[in-house]
Amino acid sequence: MKIIIGQGSCGIAAGANKVHTEFQNQIQSKALNVELTLTGCIGMCHLEPIVDIVDDDGEKTTYVKVKPEIVDEIITKHIIENKKVDEYMINEIDQMIIDKQERIALRNCGLINPEFIDEYIEKGGYKAAEKAITDMSPDEVIEEIKIAGLRGRGGAGFPTWFKWNAARKSLGETKYIVCNADEGDPGAFMDRSILEGDPHSLIEGMIIGGYAMGAKEGIVYVRAEYPLAIVRLKIAIKQAREKGFLGEKIFDDDKFNFDIRIKAGAGAFVCGEETALIASLEGERGMPRLKPPFPAQKGYWGKPTNINNVETFANVPWILSNGGKAFAALGTEKSKGTKVFALTGKIRKGGLVEVPMGITLREIIFDIGGGIKDNKKFKAVQMGGPSGGCIPAQLLDTPVDYDSINNTGAIMGSGGMVVMDETTCMVDMARFFLDFTRKESCGKCIYCRIGTKRMLEILTRICEGQGKDGDIELLEELGAKIKEGSLCGLGQTAPNPVLSTLRYFREEYEKHIYDKE
Ligand code: SF4
Repeated sequence: MKIIIGQGSCGIAAGANKVHTEFQNQIQSKALNVELTLTGCIGMCHLEPIVDIVDDDGEKTTYVKVKPEIVDEIITKHIIENKKVDEYMINEIDQMIIDKQERIALRNCGLINPEFIDEYIEKGGYKAAEKAITDMSPDEVIEEIKIAGLRGRGGAGFPTWFKWNAARKSLGETKYIVCNADEGDPGAFMDRSILEGDPHSLIEGMIIGGYAMGAKEGIVYVRAEYPLAIVRLKIAIKQAREKGFLGEKIFDDDKFNFDIRIKAGAGAFVCGEETALIASLEGERGMPRLKPPFPAQKGYWGKPTNINNVETFANVPWILSNGGKAFAALGTEKSKGTKVFALTGKIRKGGLVEVPMGITLREIIFDIGGGIKDNKKFKAVQMGGPSGGCIPAQLLDTPVDYDSINNTGAIMGSGGMVVMDETTCMVDMARFFLDFTRKESCGKCIYCRIGTKRMLEILTRICEGQGKDGDIELLEELGAKIKEGSLCGLGQTAPNPVLSTLRYFREEYEKHIYDKE
């Protein structure tokens, strides 16, 4: 019998470490022959701490919202008397949250112990890297990723095969493959969950990518505010080296040496931008650089460099194991495969979900996320983080794919979804996100540095009832100029929350300005 406790950051925040200690104490004091282990986040953050008990015949029972006070009852009834404790078990509706998903990037999260490489290997881990290195040429690997139609999951949605191929074709002996794990959007925790719950999927994806483009060194640029993710990633890298999956002669194959190291970033949002990330890696202040040259030509220390995010790499081993066609069979024509979303805000069942592209917003928010808290009405969802935009109720049937979401004025981004109910003031919401991007502006361009400051001043006076005739037009003019005149994606998208709320909720701005009763 095995007891598995969800100990990702969400579980720990809900008290999972204390629950673990209580199970440990009870198992010892009652001299039970039970294995106690941990896992990462399964995605149902609203039900943490979650405890799975796997009986000797393999049947799994999930207990939710477990407190140390009920551990004794669970142990006595379930483990000693062999009777399930219905009161604390997951209900059928919550179980459906998992059943309705299609999990590729999250395939092992919440199921395996991320601190034991053998559990990853038992799930078929490192077989895809072995197949790539021993049976396939780099071009064949890139072709498989092309067939899969995998696009970067970090935000821009650029075809992964194209970036890998560009780096492969660039001249030079020394090349780098970098993982952008600098997840900085408010409300986004997709990458953190993979790092904490299944770090080997990232490592294996980077090995395959490194082989395809000809890089011998991989770097994971991870935000320092993710201490648990860093600890688990360090353990995973060490174990992968011990097994011969990293280092010299990977899989005993003379042709490929590859290793990975970690660089902890200092939490600057702009370092999610490729060239700013590279500057930070080189020890400089994280500020974007002019492109071209693109990183695939001249990146880290002037060498060809490829950067993908955590979710993108986590998909790669699955694609190599199951074939590009199997991945491409999911999703839509131009947006293949699945996407992980973090559901936060005024939603009943907040957490992580992985769904096929093309599913509608309504299905994600209502069928999987359970709808809006406290029986309130849905008002809008902010997609794409602070650089994204809000999508109103009348567009709830929009399919979630790159093009359809862009058409609404929002962006797919890395997968953060902040749900708002009827009580949310959209002007205040736009002010919140603009304040975030203004603070994170690196200051290099005047439009971004000063323009966002001026927009924020206008939004603040509107929110405080001091708005003036002409403020809305001024916001639109400034927003358009900032988008046009900024060097990097941060500035180019910073006005989006304001512009999209003006597009769909203009009357709220007008009410603040003209109807002050
Ligand atoms: Fe820096 Fe903003 Fe210019 Fe980007 S757009 S380089 S964040 S000032």
